[in-house]
Amino acid sequence: MKVRVRLAPSPTGTLHIGTARTALFNWLFAKKEGGTFLLRIEDTDLERSKEEYIKNIYDGLQWLGIKWNEPPIIQSERASKHKEFIKTLLDKGFAYRCYASESELEEMREHQKKNGLPPRYDNRHRVLTPEQESKFIESGRNPVIRFKINDEQTITWNDLIRGQMSWSGKDLGGDMVIARKAPADSIGDPLYNLVVVADDSEMKISHVIRGEDHLANTAKQILLYQALDLNIPVFAHTPLILNSEGKKLSKRDGVTSISEFKKMGYTSEAMANYMTLLGWSVPEGMNERFKISDISEVFSFEKVNKASAKFDWDKLNWLNSQVIHEMSPKTLLQNLDPLFKKNGWNLPSQELGLKLVNLIGPSMILMNDGLEQAKPFFEEPTLNNDGKKQLEIKEAKKILQFILDELEEIPSSFITEQQAKDLLNQTTKTLNLKKGLVMKSLRASLFGTLNGPDLIQSWVLLSGFSKDRARISRFI
Ligand code: GLU
Repeated sequence: MKVRVRLAPSPTGTLHIGTARTALFNWLFAKKEGGTFLLRIEDTDLERSKEEYIKNIYDGLQWLGIKWNEPPIIQSERASKHKEFIKTLLDKGFAYRCYASESELEEMREHQKKNGLPPRYDNRHRVLTPEQESKFIESGRNPVIRFKINDEQTITWNDLIRGQMSWSGKDLGGDMVIARKAPADSIGDPLYNLVVVADDSEMKISHVIRGEDHLANTAKQILLYQALDLNIPVFAHTPLILNSEGKKLSKRDGVTSISEFKKMGYTSEAMANYMTLLGWSVPEGMNERFKISDISEVFSFEKVNKASAKFDWDKLNWLNSQVIHEMSPKTLLQNLDPLFKKNGWNLPSQELGLKLVNLIGPSMILMNDGLEQAKPFFEEPTLNNDGKKQLEIKEAKKILQFILDELEEIPSSFITEQQAKDLLNQTTKTLNLKKGLVMKSLRASLFGTLNGPDLIQSWVLLSGFSKDRARISRFI
């Protein structure tokens, strides 16, 4: 069987991490099987679907390195095709028009509620006489179209992740609406389950890989495939992603969309790596840090858990720091420089840029940490409490004056590492002070704080930005 899989996002929001993870599993499976990965934009909810979300979905997938192999299918452009499938169902007697009004349905639900029954349509218009139908039409009622669901049947399939599945017909809520209200001589807008079956079949999808929240839809869709005499694809339902409290990860958890993770400074590589681990366990002996392009051969649904996956920020952060630390200084600079430029920060030279990333890279977890840490090289730092206290120590001024005077002796505007080291030693010795005191005072004057990366390197770098002397003299 030729493997053809698809991601079918609804563009009613930005690319959600759950959808992106589904995309990854589809893509990895297609890659492993030498198959095709397709994209279908399910924009039939015209009111909520937006062009900007379609763009966000394309951008997010591309950013993650997930490429689709054929031009995307736009579902709303295929409405007439979908109606043909509905017509077939009507002609074959698998579907019928239902004229029940909103208030009648409401009354039915109230009755069910009162009697402790699950909400469902009671199939009341499944068998109408032509006279009854004409009466409804004359009274101005527009019908929906419903697909008959036999309560007594059991729907089964062999799920690639969850194994043998079975679903009882009576748990599907009664005959299902497949087309919205429209005059009885026409077919209204086709609805989700029908449309998905029509498109998956026309796109020759061999495997439907999607979230487990679609399990009931799968049961309904299998019935449609059978009624339409179409090939039924293989199904795989991926586990949900939960927050730390064990609830489905949602907007309330803050960040859920790929573009937001990107904005926070997560790298695409760490995101793709982490999302693959959300539900999939690496084979024994394999490291959890990997490139998605390298793992398709070992990816399999046998290693995808049935249980939900808990979102683990620590692990994601760890992976992100790994990705950053593995980057060459040049690559890291290429990533950071656009962020610098956005802040209006211009590097004096490529060489200083490389020195800067060498200095700050090892302690970065997020790309945005680089911004935080690079800031004092571009902007005047504010003096924090510790820094202020340090500079109030009575020897501090003396130390800074001494260093400044000595700097005047150095003809070049920047200093070398050796010169910086010598100068610190000389200050300690001449003023007969503890080295710690000298270093802390210098750091406070240069960076406004007592914490930070290696002082000598930071100072040398700051002198490269021609900023050290002015900063020291601020406190004298
Ligand atoms: N449009 C559906 C969703 O976004 C996907 C349906 C499917 O994968 O079959 O949940």
